[in-house]
Amino acid sequence: MTVTQDFEGMSALVTGGASGIGAAVAALLLARGARVAVLDLDPGGAPEGALALRADVTDDDAVRNAVERAAAELGGLHTVVSNAGIGSIGTVEDNTDTEWARVLDINVLGMVRTARHALPHLRRAAAGRPGAVSITQTCSIAATAGLPQRALYSASKGAVLSLTLAMAADHVREGIRVNCVNPGTADTPWIGRLLAQADDPAAERAALEARQPLGRLVTADEVAAAVVHLASPAAASVTGTALAVDGGMQGLRLRPA
Ligand code: NAD
Repeated sequence: MTVTQDFEGMSALVTGGASGIGAAVAALLLARGARVAVLDLDPGGAPEGALALRADVTDDDAVRNAVERAAAELGGLHTVVSNAGIGSIGTVEDNTDTEWARVLDINVLGMVRTARHALPHLRRAAAGRPGAVSITQTCSIAATAGLPQRALYSASKGAVLSLTLAMAADHVREGIRVNCVNPGTADTPWIGRLLAQADDPAAERAALEARQPLGRLVTADEVAAAVVHLASPAAASVTGTALAVDGGMQGLRLRPA
């Protein structure tokens, strides 16, 4: 199959690009002709061909150094995919202030730091390629769905959604588009780790799949396809948008027959 080389001549940075959704995004960007850097706490799983950079998104200096290295080695930056994030289970009574600070630091401030250091490079790139320069953030349907046992995680993703809209407004006239994707339950190592905690992981997986309108989990490649579309020159007029890739979880109101 011939893959469109619509990212030819473009450089991309993907945070959390060594596993799951981020690794699928990095691989697809490479296949579509981009030069790609992966920023990750544990970059060993970055796809072959990507520049793997070890950094923690909670460390502002480390993020700045990784962004600068990516821009220097890849020749500027056109595409940023801010995807690093962690999960958290519980109600407001379950999580301590320390846990709140930690998850918000990674899931929200991590994206703020990435954008802060990438924006000067994106601005320069936008001058040469209007419409092709963007930030795409991995949000979640948890931002708006009212999921049980996800108070902290949902609040963090609610902040990512608001941040996406505010950043889209701030940078639209600079030629920098900002969007997010809202995955439902995506089959990544993260979900594997969650299921592994159950007494019967196989039964838990079957129950999880049965709760999805599609009858299966969304794949990391399906989420990556949406991210890469939003980042692509074909989406030149798309900014300030949240694209759900959730198998109908949020939009459909299915009832048992
Ligand atoms: P994953 O655990 O497979 O991958 C996450 C990656 O982020 C890992 O490579 C990890 O090393 C990296 N990372 C974590 N903390 C980091 C930090 N402090 N600094 C740098 N890198 C860090 O998870 P995934 O399922 O691919 O999730 C990716 C994104 O998708 C997250 O933002 C998550 O909230 C979002 N999401 C996932 C699902 C799902 O069902 N899997 C659903 C909705 C949203």
